[in-house]
Amino acid sequence: MAQGRKNETGLAPVARRTHSRPQFWQLARRCCQLAASVDVAFFFLFHLLGSPILAWINIASVSLYLAAFHLLNTRRNGLAIALIWTEVIVHAALGTLLIGWDSGFHYFLLMFIPALFAGMTTTRAWIAVAGLWAFYVSLYAMMWFVEPLQPISSNALLGVFLFNLTVVFCMFSYLSLFYVNNVSSAQRKLQFMATTDPLTRLFNRRHMIELAEKEIARCERHPLQITFLLLDIDHFKQFNDRYGHDVGDRVLQRMSALLTSVLRTQDSLGRWGGEEFLALLPDTDGEQALLIAERMRATVEQDQWECEGFALSVTLSIGVSEYRPGEDLSLAIARADRALYQGKEAGRNRVELELAGL
Ligand code: GH3
Ligand code: MG
Ligand code: MG
Repeated sequence: MAQGRKNETGLAPVARRTHSRPQFWQLARRCCQLAASVDVAFFFLFHLLGSPILAWINIASVSLYLAAFHLLNTRRNGLAIALIWTEVIVHAALGTLLIGWDSGFHYFLLMFIPALFAGMTTTRAWIAVAGLWAFYVSLYAMMWFVEPLQPISSNALLGVFLFNLTVVFCMFSYLSLFYVNNVSSAQRKLQFMATTDPLTRLFNRRHMIELAEKEIARCERHPLQITFLLLDIDHFKQFNDRYGHDVGDRVLQRMSALLTSVLRTQDSLGRWGGEEFLALLPDTDGEQALLIAERMRATVEQDQWECEGFALSVTLSIGVSEYRPGEDLSLAIARADRALYQGKEAGRNRVELELAGL
């Protein structure tokens, strides 16, 4: 991809959509196998219907699909896709020319429209769709004036039509399911990345603000109490300085797991900053919050553990504030921050409730 051009955000633009996901190529391989099996069935069907030309066309199709399957296995994906497209277009055209529009071979052309939008830029996909439409309409118009070259009986034609329609229905459903599953899993991944801190796997600051705003809105409707805890590791810088940054990271991870284990299921914990955490305790007043904060502080203090050969013990200071109806979230957190600062001033490893009047 070109590295040179950058937009105003300083990031290189996304040049084109590509199938970088292995699932897509797995799907393409599966489709080759399915299409080859369907064409083998067609070979026997057309022999029975007394149309050897169409029977042998299907054998040629089987060979093309097997070749595309081999190309996909050897990672020559572009060539494989070109081969599959050629097969579908030529097969649809030949089938229609030989036994007529009512054979339903043209439906196979429509199945690839979603793949066009998934595989290239939107502009290119529209151009390709327009080309496909022109081809489709030309084929239809031609069959309006030209008689089929190898007509079969009307009953046989009905059989071919129903077979084609059934295959297209099944493949369309299969492809739709694939695209929907892919989009859902990408959405879940994005949602996780947008809300989670990668180091600690706790909620990130942005998501904690969202959760707190939601809780505050709930609190405005019902007379409920919310409490915030701001937790800060004492002398954390020393862990980095003495034992290295990796040990510092491990301390953050261990604290995250410990604090999560102490909280109740309705509470939320997020990484607020470097070595600071914010806990949101819904339906909890200051007194109950003090007990929970004290439990967190004591659990961390009692946790003696070893990391990369160093015996470690960590302490926390915690500031507690009660949300006051009508106030801004930032004010409630600023009061927890001031309480935390008091705890630091008073010697650390302490829990402090916000001061009255602040
Ligand atoms: P205090 O008791 O007053 O809170 O002192 P402190 O040392 O904990 O606080 P200070 O603000 O002086 O230092 C915080 C350090 O946390 C500085 C920064 O390099 C470190 N830090 C921030 N984020 C990370 C991180 O993701 N990993 C590691 N290893 N260190 C981090
Ligand atoms: Mg600190
Ligand atoms: Mg700090």
